[in-house]
Amino acid sequence: MNRFFLLFIAALAVLPVLPTPEFWITQANYIGLYAIVAIGLVLLTGVGGMTSFGQAAFVGLGAYASAYLNTAYGLSPWLGLMAGVALSMTVAFVLGALTMRLSGHYLPLGTIAWGLSFFYLFGNMEFLGRFDGIGSIAPIAVGSLELRSGHAIYYLIWAVVVLSVLATQNLLDSRLGRSIRALKGGVVMAEAMGARTAWLRLVCFVFAAVLASLSGWLYAHMQRSVNPTPFGLNAGIEYLFMAVMGGAGSVWGAILGAGFVSLLKDQLQTVLPKLFGSSGNFEIIVLGLLLIFLLQYARHGLWPALTALLPKSWRGQQDQGAPASAPALPVRSRPALGQSLLSVDKVRKEFGGLVAVNDMAFEVKAGEVLGLIGPNGAGKSTMFNLITGVLSATRGVVRYAGQEIQNLPSRDIVRLGIARTFQHVKLLPGMSVLDNVALGAHLRGHAGVVRSVLRLNRAEEGQLKHEAFRQLERVGLAHLAHEPAGSLALGQQRIVEIARALCCDPALLLLDEPAAGLRHKEKEALAALLSRLRAEGMSVLIVEHDMDFVMKLCDRLVVMEFGTLIAQGVPAQVQQDPAVLQAYLGGL
Ligand code: ADP
Ligand code: MG
Repeated sequence: MNRFFLLFIAALAVLPVLPTPEFWITQANYIGLYAIVAIGLVLLTGVGGMTSFGQAAFVGLGAYASAYLNTAYGLSPWLGLMAGVALSMTVAFVLGALTMRLSGHYLPLGTIAWGLSFFYLFGNMEFLGRFDGIGSIAPIAVGSLELRSGHAIYYLIWAVVVLSVLATQNLLDSRLGRSIRALKGGVVMAEAMGARTAWLRLVCFVFAAVLASLSGWLYAHMQRSVNPTPFGLNAGIEYLFMAVMGGAGSVWGAILGAGFVSLLKDQLQTVLPKLFGSSGNFEIIVLGLLLIFLLQYARHGLWPALTALLPKSWRGQQDQGAPASAPALPVRSRPALGQSLLSVDKVRKEFGGLVAVNDMAFEVKAGEVLGLIGPNGAGKSTMFNLITGVLSATRGVVRYAGQEIQNLPSRDIVRLGIARTFQHVKLLPGMSVLDNVALGAHLRGHAGVVRSVLRLNRAEEGQLKHEAFRQLERVGLAHLAHEPAGSLALGQQRIVEIARALCCDPALLLLDEPAAGLRHKEKEALAALLSRLRAEGMSVLIVEHDMDFVMKLCDRLVVMEFGTLIAQGVPAQVQQDPAVLQAYLGGL
């Protein structure tokens, strides 16, 4: 917890003790309730990249569940809380499993659909009081203290806000959190590091739903009555406004956004009817315009725009750093040198009419560096994608250590010990180099959602971060560990990808053009690193255009042209091969 957080808590604690007018306490309570929902959206939308217009429905679930159980059966609000959370988790799980798969614009549309249906569901149920709702709900009691007044429930609301902040930050600062941050840029990289991205999306969704239902529970027992209006689509849109305006990338943005939007809306609701008459909801139009304006000039929201004004030393470090020492992670046993590790057998990939990989067959032996070369468009990257499960082969068999892997998803292939880099670098530019590398260690940790949220994962996290730092040292980039990955030169970013792949503890390393963009000295360092890895028993399959580099480093070469194998053998022999000279070297 940093100084800013402590200051924030101290300010919250003294606010009701000062002679603050009741009106402001009520405002603060509403802001707290909104903030809890918006913090869920930080994880779901801001970090995870899944836009939801339907969060108000979960607020409604939490509110109605507790309100109904309390008024119909006299259940205590605390039991209502548990029931509400259980209900929204279940509903979120089912809805999420159905809608989280939708891509592009279909996902937001799906959230609008269920946002609307819940509103009418609340409004049409006889036992929920139809559109009149439910009244005479009991206040929450803590021991013998009933939280009836705004002052009294204030502390509970803001305690939930603070806990939501902690839970979200803890989750983001974990192996799952790193992978969640990778979701936005597409799932290929996260899956290649072993993350189950469909599951992670569901985790974000359920997490956000639970926070929303907590807010609903507090609302129902503060207001002491509920009706469908605050849980409709309008409210869902406003929650999204709050998260996006405040800066959906950080929990503080959500709180700022909740405060900003609710205060502004209040002002607009008093000012606008005087100007335009009271027949329309003009404030939503003004808010919409403001959002568009904001997205033009401060795309990441108010919070990042504000913190950018602070001196760098106030902003703190990008990541938590790595402990100086930690117990080493277990290491995979390496296959015996010289035995066949990977065998590609008549593998074919067609893209429509184009045969990108034409019945390719070759083998990588344990402990060798095999170069896969060929002109641009020869099908080398496609071959990598077939081996690592990013693409599925039209036909053919890929075996790794004797096991057929051509039908396995990426995350299972990396688990077996094949790690890769990408020709088009796939790092998270805003995340620190260290955290990017630690993504590779995803499968070497085991902490799940609950342990991460409760911060019981610290020992393991220390090990993962330490391992990430060790791999950065190994590739010679430890001095850049805390820089944002996007600030590195492209050549260095490629080396970071190698460190990330090494973090997977592979037995076979697939490198797609790792030397592209490196300077001469850096290439020499890379060649030295790869030779060292080979000496340690690592097997490497490398695509590279720099012939000098390839000829010096590789034990054997496989040459492709138009998807087809045209030659293979030791470098000296391949260099003399007429077909190769014609197709490839001759063209240089
Ligand atoms: P290399 O890595 O050897 O330069 P690639 O494997 O990237 O070559 O591409 C081989 C051929 O397959 C190229 O003609 C390329 O345009 C085509 N190709 C690659 N990926 C796709 C895809 N997803 N859809 C259609 N064609 C593709
Ligand atoms: Mg390529």
